[in-house]
This record gives sequence, structure tokens and C-alpha cells, in this order.
Amino acid sequence: MNAKPESLLPPLDVERIRADFPLLARTVHDKPLIYFDNANTGQKPRSVIEAVDRHYREHNANVARAVHQLGEEATAAYEGARDAIARFIHAPSRDEVILTSGTTQSINLVAYSYALPRLKAGDAILTTVMEHHANIVPWQLVAERTGATVKAAPIDANGELIVERFVEMLTPEVKLACVTHVSNVLGTVNPIREIARECRKRGIPLLVDGSQAAPHRPIDVQALGCDFYAITGHKMLAPTGTGALWAKREHLMAMPPFFGGGEMIREVRFEGTVFADPPHRFEAGTPNIAGFAGVAAAIEYLEGVGFDRLKAYEQDLLAYATAALEDLPGIRIFGRAKEKEPVISFLLEGAHANDMATLLDLQGVAVRSGHHCAHPLMHFFGVPATLRASLAFYNTKAEVDGFVDAIGRVRKLLM
Ligand code: PMP
Repeated sequence: MNAKPESLLPPLDVERIRADFPLLARTVHDKPLIYFDNANTGQKPRSVIEAVDRHYREHNANVARAVHQLGEEATAAYEGARDAIARFIHAPSRDEVILTSGTTQSINLVAYSYALPRLKAGDAILTTVMEHHANIVPWQLVAERTGATVKAAPIDANGELIVERFVEMLTPEVKLACVTHVSNVLGTVNPIREIARECRKRGIPLLVDGSQAAPHRPIDVQALGCDFYAITGHKMLAPTGTGALWAKREHLMAMPPFFGGGEMIREVRFEGTVFADPPHRFEAGTPNIAGFAGVAAAIEYLEGVGFDRLKAYEQDLLAYATAALEDLPGIRIFGRAKEKEPVISFLLEGAHANDMATLLDLQGVAVRSGHHCAHPLMHFFGVPATLRASLAFYNTKAEVDGFVDAIGRVRKLLM
């Protein structure tokens, strides 16, 4: 039987979905939990929790080292996650998918294995003002060791990348460009295809930080036209400590290993070691096998929901939440991009973000406050911190109402 096209599927049934996420039913400080910290980490459906549990109960063994039945099952689970991720991001080949502990490791792998051996004094890496520290600090560390510099393209007051400026900054010294697909603070969606086209014209490889995109939109690395794409599992329903780096084969073949150890070699002699081909060359040591069993389950869950439905639902929720916040006096929203994922950064006039978050927590509302690992972006807006409500497809309008009411109560306490 053919699967129905997503557009013919009925709208998302949020109550049925919520029933799949055990944690959403709990209370916090005797109040029903309103979990709006999804950009920080997402909650897990039962199928993911059970996949991890089943792995330890029934299949636990190390990968690739054993010929016994359990070893084969563990290897099948781990390699099955690679297949699922390759399908999820439309990688041309599963061998171009390196399994990592998350975006931070994925980006550091590119920094130390791709950038470090290539960069020299006078070279530059171009990034943007809206990046997470994970897409800034590794480049600074590599720049320090090579004499290269890190440049940041500006954004406008709406929190959108000024693409013309980014393109002007793609000068011949730039040897790598690194851009987030979606801002973790503002929700801004960057025009990656256009950016990739401009990079390609100039022969500059492009790394895309997909941490905040993968939970919300279908990813097709071939259509995007980038060279490297990093994802992190825990923001897309999967366990913490899982993630991936996709890279074009030509880059992977030219990259030396970053970690040395077991599982990444073909032959080890003291006269010299021959490394395995990608992806195993970059996967030394015992990985988070149970976590990757969860990754495969998470991807199956997201595919079952379908990104058409998920997106329509989340965009409606974002519009509802934005309008509700705007109705409150003294609220300043950061990030007004035309294309946004469901992330709202804001401040209430006269109230400190951390005080607000602490008081909201007492009302059962989990939001993040602080700099969101994006100091340069906070600096751009001239604030030390914001509050951030980040939504997922299992959140509801009733929760948005509860959140807005809680802000009203907190305001009374603070003013
Ligand atoms: N980039 C972005 C845009 C993020 O939001 C995050 C997580 N907050 C990261 C990178 C780092 O991801 P991880 O900590 O899972 O490696």
C-alpha cells in the first residue's frame, strides 16, 4: 500500500501526540508542567525511551567487535541509526554520515580535522553574529593556532542575516563559511540555499549548524547545497549525547582523524597506522549505542508525524503565542524574521530575565533565561539576557494561554 502524501493527512492530533510523551503529564511545583524550553532540549516519546530500554534489556553488547549474536544486534542498531539519519537529511550516501555526540562534537571535528590542517595566517573563517557559541569558539581556537581570523556577518534589527553583506564578506581570504540554519535565540531561518550558492561560486566550503532546524523542517543536504551539516539528537526527540555530521565524501576522504583509538583503523603498527575509510575513521572508541537506538526511533516518530503537519501546527502556535505576548504591556520581542521557527525571545520592561524565569518556574512554566550561548547576539541587541519560550509540536494553545497568564501573575509580583 502506498503511503498517503503528507498534505492529505488529517491535521495533527495534539492530544494523541501528548499521550506519547510521558513527561508532559507531570506537575512542577504542584502545577501542570508547561514545557517551553524545547530549543534547549526536547522531550522524548515513549517509543524512544523504550528503544533505549530495550537495547539495554535485550541487545546490549559492543559494536563491530564481536561476532556473537548480541554484538551483531548492537551493530545493527547503531548502523541502523546511520541509515535513518542519512534518510532523514537526504544524504547521498550513509558513508558520509559520521555519528557524533552532538553538534558541538560535529563542529569541532570539522574545526580540527578539516580547518586546522588547511588554514594559515591571513586566512579567514566567515560566520554570523547570530551563531551559538558552538559555531564560534571552535573557529576561534583554530584561528589562534593558525593565525587565521574569524569574521562575523551582521544582522538587521529584525534578527535577519544581511545576506548582501555576508556575500560581500566572502572575500578570497575566506576558506570556510559557517552559518546556522535556524537561530536558537531568534528562530530566524537563514536562506541556506542562497548562501550555499554564493559560497560555491567562490569555491568556499559551507558548514551549516542544523541543531535548531532538524526538529522543525525537512532537511535535504543535497538541495541545500552545503558541504557540512551538523545535527544534535536531543533537540529532535532523541537521547542526549547523540548527533551527526554529514560531509561531502571528497572532504571526508581528505580529512585526517580527530580522535585516535579502536574502531577507526584498518591496521596498526608502530611503524605507522592505516586508518579506516569514512565514516569509521572518525568514530574511535565505544559510541552511545543505546542512544543511537533511540535516534532511529526518534526519526521514525518524526516521520510518522510528518513535517507538513508538524510545520503547519507549529507555525499556527507560533503566531498565536506571538500575538498573545504582544497583547501584554511592556513586552519586547527579539527577532521578527519573515521566516521563523517557533522560538520567541522576549523581555518584560523593568524585570530581569532570570527573576522572571525563576518565578515562571514556580508557576510550572519552563522557559530559558540568559544569553543562550550567543553572547555576540546579546551584545548586538544591547541586553545581557532574554527570556526564551521555544515551542514544539506537542505544545498547545491552552499552554500558551497558561504561560501568558503566568507572566501576568509574575508581573504583579515584580512590579
Ligand atoms: N548550535 C545551536 C544553534 C544550538 O542551539 C545548540 C544547542 N543549544 C548547539 C549548537 C550545541 O548543541 P549540543 O550542545 O547538543 O552539541
